[in-house]
Amino acid sequence: MRPRKVRGIARDTLRFILEASRSSLPVEFAGLLQVDEEIITEVLILPGTESSRMSALVRLYMLPNMAVAGSAHSHPSGDLRPSEQDLIFFLRTGDFNIIVGPPFDEQSFACYDGGGRRRDLAILDVEFKDSGFDEDFEDDFEDEFREDRL
Ligand code: ZN
Repeated sequence: MRPRKVRGIARDTLRFILEASRSSLPVEFAGLLQVDEEIITEVLILPGTESSRMSALVRLYMLPNMAVAGSAHSHPSGDLRPSEQDLIFFLRTGDFNIIVGPPFDEQSFACYDGGGRRRDLAILDVEFKDSGFDEDFEDDFEDEFREDRL
């Protein structure tokens, strides 16, 4: 059920996570990441505390046809290292687990794989389209993002 390939996260999606984390203060923000066209573009928001996050996750995994690439949550302390509980959580969520913290700008995040190892996550400029799919879509899509390696 996990997406086979992930090229990065849409810049707007990262900004959403950062903004949601800022506005959740002092409570922690937590969500699950979903992928469309090999790019993380969706965030499913989970209840905000460490204890409820795990049970919410279990409930979400019972939904049919749900492919999750990983997770995103905030550390209001600003320490972007995963806690022991985070590492257990990451084993279950996938290979892209984002931790954000103050000041909640595009540099104030870290990404970890399912084993808790730090990894790069490209921020991609994606133009979201809600018009119908057409045959040129894939080519257009390639032209419309610029890849920034962190
Ligand atoms: Zn944490």
